[in-house]
Amino acid sequence: MAQESNPIDMDKIVSLSRRRGFVFQSSEIYGGHGGCWDYGPLGVQLKNNVKQAWWQSIVQERDDVVGVDSSILMNPRVWEASGHVAGFSDPMSDCLKCKMRWRADDFEGKICPSCGGELTEPRQFNLMFKTFMGPMEDTASVAYLRPETAQGIFVNFDNVLNTTRKKLPFGIAQIGKSFRNEITTGNFIFRSREFEQMELEYFVKPGTDDYWHEHWLQARIDWYTSLGMKRENLQLRAHCSDELAHYAKACSDIQYLFPMGWSELEGIANRCDFDLKQHSKHSGKTLEYFDEESKEHITPYVIEPSAGVDRSVLAFLIDAYTEEPDKDDIRAVLKLHPRLAPFKAAVLPLSKKEPLVNMAKEIHASLRKAWMVTYDESQSIGRRYRRQDEIGTPYCITVDFDSLDDNQVTVRERDSMTQERIPISEIKAYLCPRLTGELK
Ligand code: ATP
Repeated sequence: MAQESNPIDMDKIVSLSRRRGFVFQSSEIYGGHGGCWDYGPLGVQLKNNVKQAWWQSIVQERDDVVGVDSSILMNPRVWEASGHVAGFSDPMSDCLKCKMRWRADDFEGKICPSCGGELTEPRQFNLMFKTFMGPMEDTASVAYLRPETAQGIFVNFDNVLNTTRKKLPFGIAQIGKSFRNEITTGNFIFRSREFEQMELEYFVKPGTDDYWHEHWLQARIDWYTSLGMKRENLQLRAHCSDELAHYAKACSDIQYLFPMGWSELEGIANRCDFDLKQHSKHSGKTLEYFDEESKEHITPYVIEPSAGVDRSVLAFLIDAYTEEPDKDDIRAVLKLHPRLAPFKAAVLPLSKKEPLVNMAKEIHASLRKAWMVTYDESQSIGRRYRRQDEIGTPYCITVDFDSLDDNQVTVRERDSMTQERIPISEIKAYLCPRLTGELK
């Protein structure tokens, strides 16, 4: 049976991203660099908005979560304690004929999927990038680029506890770059070697962990849908016991229906007390919490919702991409939630002539103090609307000849294409609740 997949053609998303400046190949003029991507002027806005929306829901709007920003290069003993030096690997086989290296999940039998040659027995290949710190390139100076942001949270458990005096349950959140020497990258920004993660470690009393695991599964699904992602394109997949890490009690992935099928967007695991105990053992520093009620020292359990920024950006782009018949043509619209849209509005003077342009520029200057707002005076108004539709700008503000007399502008909404005439003095108040999503 064919796997269910999103009908949106990934090539369309890749081409739109390239053409309009969302995502470029890394080092493109040198022929690219495998599994690395650069975000362009619109992409960086979208990506920042995704991160900001996550931070708002996880840190800003909660009493029980604080943030950190830890270093990428950490003491290499961190990765021994976490199990990454010994176990963060994929089984790999080499083709004896074409010399390609394959991940064991990417082929069947012992035949190379590329040339049909014979494959070696699988060997473990560590996915961490190694580098050296300081002037000596020897084993004593080995350092790793972090493969996840989570460990930077665990090693700061005591610092955060002592400085914030949080009571259980509480969480520590972090957004940042991670690096994995993935063997097979692909599906655009879905799997790359350098990517960003948004991770929360939520510490709870043992015994309440099942409740909090459920809580976070729901809260995270709600976050995606609150930003406009279609519920039918999201599903939970619980890991079966033979998939679970030995220390984990449960793990569920939030999957999105990508063009290549259901794939992981975020993993939400109940990691028990594994991480804190490991770091206590390896560092010699006790990482515990004193429970006032029972007057006991306990090692909290941890629930870890771990999401990918780039995968979220890709899922939001795919989910928002729409083609609609419009007169004799097709209208391509990115129906991004206004909070995610790179530009919140575009100011468009109907003519390039003096008094109109001045008025439009004044409106633009005033609005951009509050939001990312673009300005465009080239080509016909219809084409300008289309350009904004295609990059997801939710509101177009048109300044026409009547504006000079009545001090009003026409505001066009992207999805419905309805137009309203409003006083210039009221544009900010009009946009404000609509851009947060409080008003449609
Ligand atoms: P996969 O099975 O797809 O390799 P994973 O289970 O190894 O992912 P985790 O270690 O749980 O991933 O990382 C948490 C999240 O980080 C993932 O859900 C994903 O969104 C993101 N992520 C992980 N690896 C990559 C990558 N190579 N490129 C982009 N995002 C990634």
